[in-house]
Amino acid sequence: MPRLKRSQPTEPIKLKVKKGDTVEVISGKDKGVRGEILEAMPKENKVVVQGANMMVKHQKDRPSNRAGANNVLKGGRIEKEGPLFASKVMVVCKACQRPTRVGYAYRDGEEKMSRRKYRICKHPDCGKAID
Ligand SMILES: [Zn+2]
Repeated sequence: MPRLKRSQPTEPIKLKVKKGDTVEVISGKDKGVRGEILEAMPKENKVVVQGANMMVKHQKDRPSNRAGANNVLKGGRIEKEGPLFASKVMVVCKACQRPTRVGYAYRDGEEKMSRRKYRICKHPDCGKAID
């Protein structure tokens, strides 16, 4: 089968979440974990969420930069968040505290050119701005 031609240049995917958002993990082993987005990686469509997808790194003892025979930096287990696919998280609405899909709206009463897009909660009984 012929491969589909890419008609568009590779552009960073617009993530619906951004650094500082509170999100809930909706699938995978960390389902239900809530945390803040520590890092957004639009190019990879991934995010790093506080407390989710913890990975344990084992670090060996290593000599420190300082001269001296007994100067060794102790290694050990280091826990660190690993990136998750952005599709595995949902933004938690600050108003209703529920994970929600994100909709977009524009501020009213402004000139078209200066209208600012903002994100809204998609729960029909909420609809509050998330930004
Ligand atoms: Zn809401």
